[in-house]
Amino acid sequence: MSEAYTGGCACGAIRYEIDGEPIFMNDCQCRDCQRKSGTGHGSYLTFSRDGVKLEGEAARWDIVGDSGNVKTRAFCPTCGSPVYMTFAAMPAVFTVHAASLDDPGRYQPQVVTYAMRGHAWDHLDPTIPKFEKMPPG
Ligand SMILES: [Zn+2]
Ligand SMILES: [Zn+2]
Repeated sequence: MSEAYTGGCACGAIRYEIDGEPIFMNDCQCRDCQRKSGTGHGSYLTFSRDGVKLEGEAARWDIVGDSGNVKTRAFCPTCGSPVYMTFAAMPAVFTVHAASLDDPGRYQPQVVTYAMRGHAWDHLDPTIPKFEKMPPG
């Protein structure tokens, strides 16, 4: 078993530790991820929620994503860093922002989602599959 994935916000008020390997890693170019990241896409690792330990109190904001499902963004009320997301329709998963990892080099994007919303200036790895929306299934 590999080392736990650890990370948190910029000021340290929110910390997480996750046992287990990511089940999905994606760059997402949907409009919500653009607004949240301030640039062309967000980068995410999704884990089973079972292995997640959380410390600190995040501010939360619910939004209906491009998929039509409610996602809850959790960010630090002090430093504003986006840290994780949860999904009403998928309570068993927990998604963290790649740059919130203590070692962001562990992020290995597998796919690009919502490429239909991508901008020409946001040029992502051309060797990974791109999906108009989410991958089927
Ligand atoms: Zn913070
Ligand atoms: Zn997105």
